[in-house]
Amino acid sequence: MKIFTTRFDIEQHLLQSRNAGKTIGFVPTMGALHQGHLSLISQARQHNDEIVCSIFVNPTQFNDPKDLEKYPRTIEADIKLLEQAGCDVLFNPPVNEIYGGNDHWRLDIGETEFLLEGKFRPGHYQGVMQVVYKLFSIVKPDDAFFGQKDYQQFLVISKMVDHFKMPVKLVMCPIMREPDGLAMSSRNVHLTTSDRLHALVLSRTLNWVRRNFNINDMLRLKSEAEQMIEAEEDVELDYFEIADGETLHPATERSKTIVALVAAKVGKTRLIDNVILTTDS
Ligand code: AMP
Repeated sequence: MKIFTTRFDIEQHLLQSRNAGKTIGFVPTMGALHQGHLSLISQARQHNDEIVCSIFVNPTQFNDPKDLEKYPRTIEADIKLLEQAGCDVLFNPPVNEIYGGNDHWRLDIGETEFLLEGKFRPGHYQGVMQVVYKLFSIVKPDDAFFGQKDYQQFLVISKMVDHFKMPVKLVMCPIMREPDGLAMSSRNVHLTTSDRLHALVLSRTLNWVRRNFNINDMLRLKSEAEQMIEAEEDVELDYFEIADGETLHPATERSKTIVALVAAKVGKTRLIDNVILTTDS
């Protein structure tokens, strides 16, 4: 695997790859890699000739400086995992390679930015759009792979790509879970043994909603799901929503895609999870 830390070097390398007729698949991450990230690499391998992964803990998407400071960083282990997964190129730039002094642009993508996660993490999605825009401009991927785990992030990035008419295809990949159902996340390392048990209420509740899903009774389901989560010790619910998969507004019987999304603090760690209940495909 080739490792680049400067924009110039990776751009030169990928220019040669493109000139040789290779297609580029891109998996942006913040590192502390787990099987969820690796599943994106393996999807990318099925679509593209050359696979690029970035590891960059993006400061502009953290609204809490303490969260940024304690975000897990495990670069040596990440490099080994990426090599085993067959990744061709790692881009691991320092902050000043991505951000100059004058990075105050914002993009108006409408209300998607402000709902659900956006309400609890003001500015978060502007930071996500900034970094993904910059990474796309450097890597110029044919396809880019993102997890359903960050469902709203996928919508936000899709809107940004539409806005700038960027020539990249976005692919949403399924959520990888631990055997007991917990959605894999870099933040799971912060869970204590008892947090780890309490955290299971999230996937358990989403599963319960999926099993009992009935399009005419979504309000009751939502309220029972909220009660189940609120009853769990050491779990503080931020939101539980059964939403239209495109607008993220509460779903109606006419919604084509319906998604149940949850965010909660378990002990000191904030977790998100979701399940797609219906799609039109
Ligand atoms: P992160 O490093 O947390 O920014 O995540 C990088 C990418 O991995 C994002 O597209 C996430 O949605 C995706 N991802 C994170 N956790 C999982 C998971 N459990 N299953 C599948 N994809 C995931």
